[in-house]
Amino acid sequence: MSFDDIKERLRQSIDICELIGEQIELHRQGRGFVGICPWHDDSRPSLQVNPERQTWKCWVCNIGGDAFSYVMQREGIDFREALEMLADRAGIPLHEARGPRPQAGSPDDKKTLYHAMAWACEQFHDCLSKSPDASVARQYLEERQIHAESIDRFRIGYSPPEWQWLLQRAQQTAFSPEVLEAVGLALRSQRNQKYYDRFRGRVLFPIRDTQQRPIALGGRILPKFTDEKTAKYINSPETRLFSKSEQLYGLDIARDAISKQQSIVVTEGYTDVIGVHQHGFRNVVAVLGTALGPRHIRLIKRYADRIVLLLDGDDAGQRRANEILDLFVTHHVDLRIATLPAGLDPCDFVQQHGASALQSVIDGARDAWDHKITLETDGIDPIRDTHRAHQALESLLAIMARSQRATAEASQRLREQQLLNRLSREFQIEESQLRERLQAARSSQRPQLSNTQEQTQRTATPSDLEPPEQALLELMLQQPEIVPTALERIRSNQLTNAVAKRIYQTFELLSEQGVIPTFERLLLSFDEPEVKTLLVQLDDSGRNKNEENHEAVFADLCRAYERKQLRDSLRQGQAALESTELNEDEQLDLLKELLRKQQELIDR
Ligand SMILES: [Zn+2]
Repeated sequence: MSFDDIKERLRQSIDICELIGEQIELHRQGRGFVGICPWHDDSRPSLQVNPERQTWKCWVCNIGGDAFSYVMQREGIDFREALEMLADRAGIPLHEARGPRPQAGSPDDKKTLYHAMAWACEQFHDCLSKSPDASVARQYLEERQIHAESIDRFRIGYSPPEWQWLLQRAQQTAFSPEVLEAVGLALRSQRNQKYYDRFRGRVLFPIRDTQQRPIALGGRILPKFTDEKTAKYINSPETRLFSKSEQLYGLDIARDAISKQQSIVVTEGYTDVIGVHQHGFRNVVAVLGTALGPRHIRLIKRYADRIVLLLDGDDAGQRRANEILDLFVTHHVDLRIATLPAGLDPCDFVQQHGASALQSVIDGARDAWDHKITLETDGIDPIRDTHRAHQALESLLAIMARSQRATAEASQRLREQQLLNRLSREFQIEESQLRERLQAARSSQRPQLSNTQEQTQRTATPSDLEPPEQALLELMLQQPEIVPTALERIRSNQLTNAVAKRIYQTFELLSEQGVIPTFERLLLSFDEPEVKTLLVQLDDSGRNKNEENHEAVFADLCRAYERKQLRDSLRQGQAALESTELNEDEQLDLLKELLRKQQELIDR
């Protein structure tokens, strides 16, 4: 099956109302459905779903599209991943051509691994909720003030302090010890080759991907079972499902709040996330026993531009903030650092001081640069400590040099100005001198590779189009029968807007392939959400105009474009005449041709 066939089969087998209706309550309105848009703070239903066209849109957010772009937007994934998700849902195999699939039940089969994790998490959760053996764990959570509601929401579980608890239960299922080992739930003894449970005597926090599938566990040992050999916290190892450098705890639950608030709060522990969620902070996640890295940032940037790092007041927390600053600066993320009083983690803090106190800590988060400068200049006297002052200044300038090019946005230039100003005061050096040193640091660094994919494209709207090209595309979408005539009479290079031109060229391409270029086929031809949005908008604006006399409108449009075409070629001809490169005969021929065209223009 070709890629296009798969897309077409998916389009036919997926109903957009059903797909969206699974997550958002839809109500009938006229011929379509409406629901609360999950991407802005929506009070009246702004998300519109059109069952005839199989499209959706929110004009407040200025986005829309088909099932593919809905899933992309909703899950924050790329087209390929959306295709896989939808294919999985529709039961259409994508990988037939790629050799034998791993057998169901084998540790090589990813699906089996997902199922095994989901099954195990439910076992642990059931145990925590119901088993008499788990009373010690329930008591621990109660002492930590974690409510029953959170236990349910975050699917917290408990593994009794036994070596075979999970493995024994797995015997009644299809999950082999090898499968449990492959997802990090079981270990194999090197001594006697026997399998045993990895998590024993621990409260367990399932780590889920953004599709809410459990992929790993974090485990906190109960104080009762602590001895000097056991680590307080352990996580699942890296498996085929889980890589700690690209997962954030709680993102599956927090992501809607993160998109709405356009900001994310990052903490360092599971209980921090749960504790502050209980006090109404919904946009909070945690790193998983590792520092924030570039992959986390890529993940976060799908949802928010501002990151607030909420740190314990201890020195270790401050050091970690310092280490990652460099990374954020080069990734152009607005990073703020909020520091709690020493000795308190976010969970303790919110329990002792309440939600509004935590809110002011978050609101008062300092720009990472301020934080860095304070750290670097702490205790340095710029006059007496010239050597240390010089080192500190060089390190700050080096980071600045990596951050933005001189051509960056105005807001970034302003920021740079402010920073130089501050450095000038701190180090008592003329600003102009600092600027020179910054330039020197910049030119000594390799130029950054431009990453066009990371630059977000602004979505084109119908108003970006020239009025005739908007009218033309609207008509072609509403009246597919005019398409052949349009393609005959109007050439794609007559369209000026780049996206409009691509849409027009796709009309041409589909027609050449003998496919009737209906709206649905056209929508399917583009993978980029931006183009899909524009198509849905043009489809809508075209329908709303409800042009009764579309034949006359179309005829006018064709004439207008043909006149434009003639005028363009006249202009080119005149330019050629004025150049001296033609001999007399050629000039005469061209002149005749131009006169003929001029007459044609008058006749129309
Ligand atoms: Zn919206």
